[in-house]
Amino acid sequence: MGAAVQLQSAVERFVGAPVRKMLIDGKWVEAASGKKFETINPATGQVLARVAEGDKEDIDRAVRAARRAFDDGKWARMNPTERQRLLLRIADLIEANGDELAQLETLDNGKPFTESRHVDIPASAETFRYYAGWVNKIYGETNPSDAAFFNFTLREPVGVCGQIIPWNFPLLMCAWKLAPALACGNTSVLKPAEQTPLTALRLGELLLEAGVPAGVVNIVPGFGPTAGGALVRHPMVDKIAFTGSTEVGKEIHRETASTLKRVSLELGGKSPNIVFSDADPEAAVQGALLGVFFCAGQVCCAGTRLFVEQKIHDQFADKLAKTAADMKQGPGLDPETRIGPLVSQEQLERVTGYLEVGKKEGAKALIGGERNTGKGLEKGYFVKPTIFTGVRNDMKIAREEIFGPVVSVIPFKDENDAVLQGNDTAYGLAAGVWTRDVSKAHRVARALRAGTVWVNCYNVFDASAPFGGYKESGYGRELGRYAVDLYTQVKSVWLQI
Ligand code: NAP
Ligand code: MG
Repeated sequence: MGAAVQLQSAVERFVGAPVRKMLIDGKWVEAASGKKFETINPATGQVLARVAEGDKEDIDRAVRAARRAFDDGKWARMNPTERQRLLLRIADLIEANGDELAQLETLDNGKPFTESRHVDIPASAETFRYYAGWVNKIYGETNPSDAAFFNFTLREPVGVCGQIIPWNFPLLMCAWKLAPALACGNTSVLKPAEQTPLTALRLGELLLEAGVPAGVVNIVPGFGPTAGGALVRHPMVDKIAFTGSTEVGKEIHRETASTLKRVSLELGGKSPNIVFSDADPEAAVQGALLGVFFCAGQVCCAGTRLFVEQKIHDQFADKLAKTAADMKQGPGLDPETRIGPLVSQEQLERVTGYLEVGKKEGAKALIGGERNTGKGLEKGYFVKPTIFTGVRNDMKIAREEIFGPVVSVIPFKDENDAVLQGNDTAYGLAAGVWTRDVSKAHRVARALRAGTVWVNCYNVFDASAPFGGYKESGYGRELGRYAVDLYTQVKSVWLQI
């Protein structure tokens, strides 16, 4: 094991508090009930910090604060240049505190420090910077109406946003939610995932430091059915933005049907990653590994169904297994770690459960297929990177989201078969295509029913590129100018001339 990353004293102070409080109306407060919950370091199974547990009453206080902060107009009508400067300041503060935030993220989520430090944290800062750019570019239109009238549109903020996020990219999901909401003049109550509340709370401190007015952003950690449910049902919330499981997404869809709150849902996936025999084999192997083992496979767009053209199937699977076997698994703070633990005991049980199902269904694990209890890893939630062959697209492990370092390699005959099998899923979040034939790349990219298609690459993101799902992967597009649509509404104004 390499020398672990030295913990910053700021991190030790942050996790060492008797209770990490929640942010409501610009103040750090304990839960109304006085309750707190523990967040666990998944590399060791030990308690990392104790966090105030928000419930209905806390959500109500937070929503009322967000409502006041929206209705008094100070935020929504703030001079755009000033609001822009504020968002830029947030980006700067995230960068300036990058080491600390990355360590916190790795401790709480388990992901390798190199991922937190070089992906999550810079991408979070970039998201704020990108939406800072939008603040003074959100235009209305003048419309060609009858000459007796003047008709124009205003793009106005939606109001109070309830934002519920998962544990796989804790800080980055805060940024994807908060940056466009704030840029468009909304206020927010954000509920981080119970497993990973720490970077959201640290971000709360940075937001105050940047000068975000009291009540504009409220951060209430707690559990899904209690705090999350109360936020979804609260009558003063205008919009819900959710990232997480399809199951909870459907529940939110049902729950909000009666109130017609606006909703955007970014849900699960079972993405096809399709390797044609004419692909660059090195690049395709690396892309396939990045597609499934990044963040230990706990990624909604992970390329978990790896379709490989029949004639190269065996050879490709072997090469994949050999390369994956060299990826070091260990605690995220070890700089050599490429694959960390899963986020929680619950996720460990879920993923190992699927491994057993896969074996019963007849899949063969070329590598992995079990928990990793190697030296020093016994108490953590480690699952060995697993490559299954002998998988058919109708098996349970090829249909359900596993959310762990597990890939199913599935053969296909030709282009048509690849597209048919690739699309044969309830999900439609992302897809990958590997080929050196440009025309084939275009045909397949168009034929795949997914919100994102990567050609000869995988897991590439940019704040300017939209992201979201087809089918049961949800609706609404985050990032880019599309998020401006999510967080604004259009008003048509008529004047008689
Ligand atoms: P989840 O339950 O969907 O959690 C996502 C967020 O929703 C969390 O903040 C969660 O709170 C909250 N939540 C849960 N139930 C809620 C409810 N009834 N009303 C409002 N909010 C609610 O996901 P999970 O249980 O952590 O993971 C289960 C599976 O979901 C994973 O194995 C994976 O397949 C999938 N998943 C997908 C994504 C994604 O990026 N699309 C992310 C995470 C998980 P708690 O923290 O208390 O649960
Ligand atoms: Mg849950």
